[in-house]
Amino acid sequence: MSFVTHLESAIDGTVLSHTELQTLHAGRPLWVRYDLDAVGAVMTKQDVAARPPTMWRYAELLPVEDEGKIASLGEGMTPLLPCPRLGAGLGLRDLWIKDESQLPTGSFKSRGLAMAVSRANELGVERLAIPTAGNAGGAMAAYAARVGIEAWVFMPADTPVVNQAETAYYGARAYLVDGLITDCGAVVRDGTPHMNWFDVSTLKEPYRIEGKKTMGLELAEQLDWELPDVILYPTGGGTGLIGMWKAFAELTELGWLASSRRPRMISCQAAGCAPISTAWAANERFAEPFPNATTAASGLRVPAAVGDFMIIDAVNASGGQARSAAEDDLLAWARRGSALEGIAIAPEAGACLSVLEQLVAEGAVGADERIVVYNTGAAQKYLEVIRTDLPTLPTPVDWSALS
Ligand SMILES: *Cc1c(COP(=O)(O)O)cnc(C)c1O
Repeated sequence: MSFVTHLESAIDGTVLSHTELQTLHAGRPLWVRYDLDAVGAVMTKQDVAARPPTMWRYAELLPVEDEGKIASLGEGMTPLLPCPRLGAGLGLRDLWIKDESQLPTGSFKSRGLAMAVSRANELGVERLAIPTAGNAGGAMAAYAARVGIEAWVFMPADTPVVNQAETAYYGARAYLVDGLITDCGAVVRDGTPHMNWFDVSTLKEPYRIEGKKTMGLELAEQLDWELPDVILYPTGGGTGLIGMWKAFAELTELGWLASSRRPRMISCQAAGCAPISTAWAANERFAEPFPNATTAASGLRVPAAVGDFMIIDAVNASGGQARSAAEDDLLAWARRGSALEGIAIAPEAGACLSVLEQLVAEGAVGADERIVVYNTGAAQKYLEVIRTDLPTLPTPVDWSALS
């Protein structure tokens, strides 16, 4: 049983039923709403602490009705790692990385897709389709396989090769499309009447946000219900940032947070695809499609986001910023951070580290502030980026040449 009361249009507040399949309303996403008084009456922090370390430990704050329909690979409770060497290099004394690279399929997409696929399963969907910049397709393929639902995945032709391979490996019907993720989205949309599939595009169905929300719930629990000062989050479609901000609102309403302090949310993009930071800098609530989107941080290659206003609203409500990182900088920071801390930092999170460097230089973050960066994916999935040709050791070894 869930505590969901209804779905609510994020653009105009229209109320919709959660007991049937829903997509967008007025072309914009939906919020899932809960009876939080009822949740508060039955769920305690102690209950949660005693449960298995997966994202399903927050069950009362999640939309699944029937536990038996859950598609799970054990996702959740990723480590929150202190980063003293990386912090020292930036002049920061309290820097942490929430390491989402350790999730099933190697990215935080597993949280959203575990939830979306579980709800689709519960509502009787037999065929799913998704446009993807890479990691979402792999995650959807895995979770669909987990519950025996057919998966169709459409990705740009230059999607990282590991994403192409993993999607097919999990048994999905996977296709390359000559274009960007927005073109893949059009294929899924146009195909719906022909193929009778359910469209799991980012934010087109309401439940991916609820899965991503668990990133915020987990962070709060790991920090003993005291949120950090600043969160840096790499933003593509925006579900992660939107979901986390929703988590903090719900925890506030439940009275579970130790103080009224909310983190400043920093939305980080790549300069080669920066629709949100461009709109934010111009004080706009809606973003223009970003022309000629290119970046090796493939998860950020989303030139038009249907939830643009939800991202910008959250950033502004938090007193945060939406910023971008130059391509060379984000790649250099991902590599530097990985070598300094032993964490497999994806290019997307490299963008966060580069933005963090900018904020430190501007005095926009303080040396003693508690700062959390989300490493949303595993560097190993970006073979094109991390590939290194190692020198061959000549034998017999000339030891004097090795020093
Ligand atoms: C999809 C993706 C992002 C962007 O996430 P959103 O929540 O859609 O903004 C960031 N990093 C990685 C590794 C991704 O796969």
